Amino acid sequence: MLTVGANAEKVERQLSARELACPDCGAPLKPWGWARPRTLRGGAAAVVVVRPRRTRCLGCGVSHVLLPVFALVRRADLAEVIGAALAAKASGRGVRPIAVELGRPVETVRGWLRRFGGRAELVRARFTVLLVDVGVDPVPPAPAATAFGDAVAAVFGASVAAASRWPDVGKVSPWRMACAASGGRLLAPSWP
Ligand SMILES: [Zn+2]
Repeated sequence: MLTVGANAEKVERQLSARELACPDCGAPLKPWGWARPRTLRGGAAAVVVVRPRRTRCLGCGVSHVLLPVFALVRRADLAEVIGAALAAKASGRGVRPIAVELGRPVETVRGWLRRFGGRAELVRARFTVLLVDVGVDPVPPAPAATAFGDAVAAVFGASVAAASRWPDVGKVSPWRMACAASGGRLLAPSWP
């Protein structure tokens, strides 16, 4: 699995120009069919259908599915929707009001919050390193009231830092950036 940009046409161009590299060995990837379509839920009743590209490495021969940057591994909701829940929790809101606001089952939202909360220190550390690495003049976020809040603040801080370094990235939401920086695995058991 490899996280790529949200623009499918651009990804196709990069693939045919052999510009996408295998995460295992660095050799170019070639197109190799398509994975099963996935339906992702956005805000309100919006639904996004993605048909992830399947690729094969010209070097080691391993296949990699390209996941657009708005999709987290094994999650049926857009990264922005999950991120909105995480940010709301960090600002002190409870799971029920968050679930009502986003129109999602309480158990689903609780699952996101639990997984993220369980790795809050890891997320904080990872994204603080990213913030310091990429920031032009990085300012680590002030401590929040909770470890959960610290982790969310680090994600936002890293996205501000990335925007200061690469102005194009500034158009990307913090949660897409977090998705890209974790290879889509922000809430997956296999990360980091
Ligand atoms: Zn390879």
